[in-house]
Amino acid sequence: MKEEFLYVDKEGYSKLVNHLENRNSELNAFNFIDKTEKEGKIISVKDNICVQGIPATASSKVLSGYVPNFNATVVDRLQKNGFAVVGKTNMDEFGFGSFGINSDKIAHNPFDQRYVAGGSSSGSAIATAIIKNHISIAESTGGSISTPASFCGVVGLTPTYGAISRYGLIDYANSLDKIGVMGRNSESLKYVMNIVSGQDEKDTTSVSNTLEEVRKDKLYVIDNFTKNINQTVLDRFEELLSRFSSDGYKIEHVKIDNLDYSLPAYYILSMAEASTNLAKYQGFKYGHKLKQFSMGYNEFFTEARKDFGMEAKRRIILGTFIRGKSFKQKYYEKALSIRAEIIKRMKSFLKEGFIISPTAPILTPKIDEVKDITPVEEYSMDMLTIPPNLCGFPHISFPYNYEKGLPLGAQLITDHFNDYALLDFVSHWEEGFKYRFAEEIS
Ligand code: GLN
Repeated sequence: MKEEFLYVDKEGYSKLVNHLENRNSELNAFNFIDKTEKEGKIISVKDNICVQGIPATASSKVLSGYVPNFNATVVDRLQKNGFAVVGKTNMDEFGFGSFGINSDKIAHNPFDQRYVAGGSSSGSAIATAIIKNHISIAESTGGSISTPASFCGVVGLTPTYGAISRYGLIDYANSLDKIGVMGRNSESLKYVMNIVSGQDEKDTTSVSNTLEEVRKDKLYVIDNFTKNINQTVLDRFEELLSRFSSDGYKIEHVKIDNLDYSLPAYYILSMAEASTNLAKYQGFKYGHKLKQFSMGYNEFFTEARKDFGMEAKRRIILGTFIRGKSFKQKYYEKALSIRAEIIKRMKSFLKEGFIISPTAPILTPKIDEVKDITPVEEYSMDMLTIPPNLCGFPHISFPYNYEKGLPLGAQLITDHFNDYALLDFVSHWEEGFKYRFAEEIS
């Protein structure tokens, strides 16, 4: 497949905006659709990435009214290459969630609206599934690109940590956040990656390493996980493996010691960092500003911070607790050492081959089914996406089958900076796979 983008002129742009406004009333893919006429290759951008002159809320009431006067580096680079931003996509507030339901407007799966779209980059996945040849700029901290890409039947690449500048991203957890891309085919993703990746002096964690394409013919399946995966998901995944095996890949089942600790280590680190990042929303500088300085200290900050959603409040409280001086060793430092150990163990396999798994351990759930699950149940749904995210390894989710009309995704992981090998792998897969997209708005 060649790269393909939806190009529109000014007239086409107004038509596109009308279509999207219609669909958005049902799907809630966008927090903001830009009506200002423009022309170019159409992209959408997750609402935690800044686009000059367009509201950025990260789906939080706390940020309502915030309009950045600058572009994130990714957006800048894309605009200079003829891309036009049609809108900002819906997400779980600040990136906290896996289903796209921790937002004022719940995101709906475009294949069947009773089902979740996945999160936190829910809107980016929906936009990609409904707009012809669409690319969406998304972000992942612990699985926010893979999970919605899988539930909405599109390709989602989470690059190596540092490969894309985070300048202009509303941070969730700085040591874990990665801006990435979603699209309908891997060649288009590669085209966009060539533009957006590379060092940026505005983000000191961005790196200049070239992204490689070292092919591997070995696929590792991690047995630690299979015990907690839904049986239908496992059956479909086994079928996929036998296809790869007949295509000449060597499949090897392995166990990685202590991999199960990735989940608690991730949630400890991400909550500690999130609680630090959210401290800046105090009603002074960003979003709606409180001007009632006659209030007392506690009253003022309670008022300023009451608009955080439930999950954000939970993470502020837990994150602050974890950072407490007396718990530093018990939680934070232990989580850091688990991360270092898991990087080492996964890397020893990734030098030899790819790691492959289903993207989600469950079939796409109905919105009603996940509304009442406990936070810990929700966190455990990330068990397959968290290990590569915790370790900064590039990974890709690609659609490989359908179950009761809804897409199923598989996740492929590779070593740091071998990002293009993932796109190369998926590009071969795409040649034989019959894609079904939810819609073809053009
Ligand atoms: N579900 C995970 C979390 O809530 C991952 C979300 C993300 O990658 N932003 O932290």
